[in-house]
Amino acid sequence: MKRYSAFAVAREALRYHKGWGRAWRAPEPKARYDVIIVGAGGHGLATAYYLGKNFGITNVAILEKGWLGGGNTGRNTTIIRSNYLQDSSAAIFEKARSLYEDLSQDLNYNVMFSPRGCLMLAQTQSEVRGYERTAHANALQGVETEWVGPERVKELLPIINLDGPRYPVLGGLWQARAGTARHDAVAWGYARACSDMGMDIIQNCEVTGVMRAGGKVTGVSTTRGEIGCDKLGMVVAGHSGVLADLAGFRLPIESVALQALVSEPVKPLIDIVVMANTVHGYMSQSDKGELVIGGGTDSFNNYSQRGSYHHIEHTLAALIETFPIISRIKMLRQWGGIVDMTGDRSPILSKTPVEGIFVNCGWGTGGFKAIPGSGWAFAELMARGQSPLAEEFSLDRFTEGRFIDESVAAGVAH
Ligand SMILES: Cc1cc2nc3c(=O)[nH]c(=O)nc-3n(C[C@H](O)[C@H](O)[C@H](O)COP(=O)(O)OP(=O)(O)OC[C@H]3O[C@@H](n4cnc5c(N)ncnc54)[C@H](O)[C@@H]3O)c2cc1C
Repeated sequence: MKRYSAFAVAREALRYHKGWGRAWRAPEPKARYDVIIVGAGGHGLATAYYLGKNFGITNVAILEKGWLGGGNTGRNTTIIRSNYLQDSSAAIFEKARSLYEDLSQDLNYNVMFSPRGCLMLAQTQSEVRGYERTAHANALQGVETEWVGPERVKELLPIINLDGPRYPVLGGLWQARAGTARHDAVAWGYARACSDMGMDIIQNCEVTGVMRAGGKVTGVSTTRGEIGCDKLGMVVAGHSGVLADLAGFRLPIESVALQALVSEPVKPLIDIVVMANTVHGYMSQSDKGELVIGGGTDSFNNYSQRGSYHHIEHTLAALIETFPIISRIKMLRQWGGIVDMTGDRSPILSKTPVEGIFVNCGWGTGGFKAIPGSGWAFAELMARGQSPLAEEFSLDRFTEGRFIDESVAAGVAH
């Protein structure tokens, strides 16, 4: 792989950029791999990357039914934070956030991590209590967050209306090293590094069946033929239930569309990420100047990757009462992605009833921020059969009643 550098950019500029190679290969599938990962979203690609980097396992195929990064990874609003309440959640999300800090250097690919800070507004007394509690929990977990009062909120966000018509702003939970990254670049950076290690990323290859013998996985059937493997990682977000069905077991997952929208580009207006969970809306400004705005999930289970009018109306009404300045900005486009929701709003990284099959799903509305940490932990689970970061997130918790309740940190927000 040709490394990207300032020198390479200058050299290519002088020769009209004719010397750049493909970022990743487009190979034909082999008959067999040590490991197959289903789903070339951020989590699948990161898993493959850390299998190679941390465990030297490179005879790996990543199978993708569409194009890599075309699922939720390419549809999310890119918020990265680790201010979760429970210890196991804070550990994996903080691992991810800290890996994001130097992911561009690690992958030799600019993922545009921007630790601009994230503010979660408290607009009711119960939110105040909840976020103060989270700030204390985070202090014990080694996650740097702080509770801030309304004056500091106004300093961080001059465009805010602290005395909204329904809910005044009472303060907020501030994480200074939270932020955003470029979602496509995260997928592309991992893909390039995986391909460079000799892994095969096979796009337009849908897994249509899971082959088993004696309770153990032996391979998958796909739209491009049968492919054998020793281990199979299912990392397909909203389609996890479909894949599990093919493998003969069920998952405690519901699939539902989550929506977002962006405005026309405007001059710099807001230089942090802000989330208003009581009225339900959140916002940041992209490098191009668009306001990136997150809405809610549909209230019924579905597999449609579309936006809908009532979500725009609801989300914008909520944000305009807190940020009246955006009332006259034009909206550019909206979309949806299929997210995988568990009952306790925490992910599943687990072995399954079929030997050799591992599942990584349930990241719901908030898994972009987790990609590096999830890939790190899931690779360890697949390679060694156990991982300290993934331990609490096994499927057993649903039968043993060990829920990791993150409904405040993850149920509404992203
Ligand atoms: C609108 C929206 C906003 C969001 N905002 C945020 C946010 O701000 N911050 C945050 O942290 N998270 C956010 N999320 C959540 C985040 O996007 C997801 O949790 C994360 O991207 C999931 O990544 P993934 O790799 O697991 O799934 P995906 O990126 O969806 O990848 C799964 C892949 O599997 C493929 N696949 C499915 N079935 C098959 C099959 N049978 N064979 C082969 N391939 C298959 C799909 O085509 C897809 O490419 C948001 C999500 C949405 C939809």
